Amino acid sequence: MKLEGMHHITMITGDARRNVDFYADVLALRMVKKTVNFDAPQAYHLYFGDEQGSPGSILTWFEFPGAPPGNPGAGMVHTIQLGVRSAESLEFWNKRLADSGYPTESLDGVLRFQDFEGLQYELVIADPSNPVLQARHPEIPVEHALTGVQGVRAFASEELNSDRDLLVDGLGFTEVGIGEYLVEGDDTRFRFGYDQHPGYGGREGTGTVHHIAWHSRDEDHEAWRERAGEAGQSVTPVIDRDYFNAIYFRQPQGILFEIATTSPGFAVDEDPAHLGEQLRLPTQHEPMRAQLESLLDPLVNPRAAAPLD
Ligand code: ZN
Repeated sequence: MKLEGMHHITMITGDARRNVDFYADVLALRMVKKTVNFDAPQAYHLYFGDEQGSPGSILTWFEFPGAPPGNPGAGMVHTIQLGVRSAESLEFWNKRLADSGYPTESLDGVLRFQDFEGLQYELVIADPSNPVLQARHPEIPVEHALTGVQGVRAFASEELNSDRDLLVDGLGFTEVGIGEYLVEGDDTRFRFGYDQHPGYGGREGTGTVHHIAWHSRDEDHEAWRERAGEAGQSVTPVIDRDYFNAIYFRQPQGILFEIATTSPGFAVDEDPAHLGEQLRLPTQHEPMRAQLESLLDPLVNPRAAAPLD
């Protein structure tokens, strides 16, 4: 049994409109689902990714308007690495980000930048064995489109490798250095690595990562729950998130881990040609639709406003 890589990463934003502008326009991902936080339905939960909404491409945000800015410290993910195909693509994005008002920093084959709330990214040349998970956008030549999430970096809260037993023996990560791991699925390799304790605690808030979800085959999900429990983790029951099933546990360094299934995926309640265009509500919140629609700031998916041919 092995994990198939990363499923999605979830962040916090204070401004859903700017979030859509940045991720669906500047970064040219596809907004594949517009729904609400199932545990706090007056808040948006927005999903961005490739054309199909494939696991491994998905970045999601809870919107908490007016939430204070966060700061990633000990025990928090601080950087998300997004793939491109080539050095020419790094140049393309360097110009596009600068033209859009986002300063960049080029370091040795990596282009570093922050989103409008200070969340840090690195564009990296993707592992050539990873699947190419791209979205279409009228301004982005296909050879330069982002190709999916390649890795994350976090600050350790203890020793760099103090959660090694869980990661390697429990979850099957491959250790490639002290505090450096690969999550190797049948056709993906995702990098997960720690930097030294930064000397300060973190603060969850806008522009920070809330949790990272690993990708389980559907048939293995219950076994992963048992495995995490055997490794000493306090694991939630399996929770139906409509687009996947999920379990959660806060691992020893302090990062909230989720393990999510492949199925049913984002096309379960929408035409694949129109993902993310209508507000979708989980069944239990459907009776509150009128109330929620009056509370939530209306958001237009750019795909609905300007369909591709
Ligand atoms: Zn999640």
